[in-house]
Amino acid sequence: MGNRQEPDHRQEPGRQGPDRRPADRFPGLEQFAAGANHVGGALRPGTSGRKHTIVDPATGQDVLTYELAGPADVDAAVAAARDALPGWAGATPGERSEAMHRFAAELDARAEDLARAESLQCGKPLKLTREFDVPGTIDNTAFFAGAARHLQGQSAGEYSGDHTSYVRREPIGVVGSIAPWNYPLQMAAWKVLPAIAAGNTIVLKPAELTPLTSLIFAEAATAAGIPDGVVNIVTGAGLDAGEHLVSHPHVAMTSFTGSTAVGKRVAELATSTVKRLHLELGGKAPFVVFDDADLEAAVNGAVAGALINTGQDCTAATRAYVQRPLYDAFVSGVADLMAAVRLGDPFEDGTDLGPLISHAQRDRVAGFVDRARSYATVVTGGVAPHNAGAYYRPTLITGAAQDSEIVQAEIFGPVLVVLPFDSDEEGLALANDTPYGLAASAWTRDVYRAGRATREIKAGCVWVNDHIPILSEMPHGGYKASGFGKDMSSYSFEEYTQVKHVMLDNTAVARKDWHRTVFGDR
Ligand code: NAD
Repeated sequence: MGNRQEPDHRQEPGRQGPDRRPADRFPGLEQFAAGANHVGGALRPGTSGRKHTIVDPATGQDVLTYELAGPADVDAAVAAARDALPGWAGATPGERSEAMHRFAAELDARAEDLARAESLQCGKPLKLTREFDVPGTIDNTAFFAGAARHLQGQSAGEYSGDHTSYVRREPIGVVGSIAPWNYPLQMAAWKVLPAIAAGNTIVLKPAELTPLTSLIFAEAATAAGIPDGVVNIVTGAGLDAGEHLVSHPHVAMTSFTGSTAVGKRVAELATSTVKRLHLELGGKAPFVVFDDADLEAAVNGAVAGALINTGQDCTAATRAYVQRPLYDAFVSGVADLMAAVRLGDPFEDGTDLGPLISHAQRDRVAGFVDRARSYATVVTGGVAPHNAGAYYRPTLITGAAQDSEIVQAEIFGPVLVVLPFDSDEEGLALANDTPYGLAASAWTRDVYRAGRATREIKAGCVWVNDHIPILSEMPHGGYKASGFGKDMSSYSFEEYTQVKHVMLDNTAVARKDWHRTVFGDR
């Protein structure tokens, strides 16, 4: 199968015009004139001496120039978080819960601002931010407001006969978190909410490209009455503010979401200061279609799963393995549906797919596809429609070997590779054959095949006959090089709390029987 004709799309993404000015897209921009850090309950500018300009990836227009945070700003944020810690950790679960319910309401009141700011800085279609990023974040906040009152552990008991033992579940202290640019609002929520619900305070460093919604998120926390210093945001560069935060002696835990390469560096730094560590890293999710699958469902699921957020999703479907009898029909169905997806301006109705986060990311994705042309077939896509915005057409690739770069590496763009398989064993082995293990899906109507796939695929989440949905109540986290630890759900409290065994002697006996092992046994 060769290159297909690309359809003419009605819209011309990246077209300039008055309605595309950043201040028209998100009228609240002027609030960030005060700076891109939220420390001790207020916005303040960075002091690194280095500036960064946020660019609208749909148009290439400058959105906001701000001074990056440096080590001194991280120090100030950590100090604010330390000051706030005793009061917040000492509040009752009910008090924290009440404040977090108000937090959810404040976020709800800012829903449209959050959606517009997220679409502006990331290039996400408004329908995605309005229907996924923002409501998901508000739901997460409401979930953790409730979960704050449900920290659980082993029940107290007389396990030795002579003592009463119980477990205290205590906060870790000041948490230092680092987040990526692909879902800035949701990543801020996933880091901040379980941490503060459990009584910690936090300093979050968003990616330099995308701080706006993290700042609105923190402002909403302050408006909700969450005490100053509980939630702090510092927007600085990874090598500067990021490394300082991970190495900081007064930060007790590092929670990092980002690439596996940076995660390894973060792990080294965190280990040198013996910090609790939580790593949510890259992914390369397999999408396994057995020969009894509902083909239409699998085709729809593959296109949605591969293209969500323009493929910049750590759980995106990136490798489809299709059992031979369905292979040709699957490839043809996916190619047709991909070609019908409408690239366009994120702020216009009728846009399915926005640009990538930046021109640099677009060029990186194009580089993977261009290198693949020498060993595989680009069935559809593989084209950047123009240079005004960072757009790249949905791309389907076949004929690649399992050990090729396009199958093994995380591309983080709208690119799906399809490979055939024969036996069920082969399909599941191929699904497991990358270093990553974040998410996967299996497509079948056979309950035994579904059960086997969910048992044998090594990933933190396995969907059956769907791909992408997430829930506040369920854990998200990786296996293998995708990291360890869980975001969302009550499982995240395992990361953000430490358990203390308390043992109370019930006998009041001065000379205990076990003392014989040390003295006086004759
Ligand atoms: P990245 O690793 O380049 O950067 C992530 C964050 O780390 C940014 O805030 C960056 O400034 C910071 N950083 C960079 N170098 C640093 C250093 N030396 N020390 C401390 N901090 C540093 O990732 P990205 O390009 O922003 O995001 C894409 C990656 O994130 C993908 O690999 C994706 O799979 C991953 N991701 C994973 C999950 C998950 O839940 N597992 C979720 C979203 C994104």
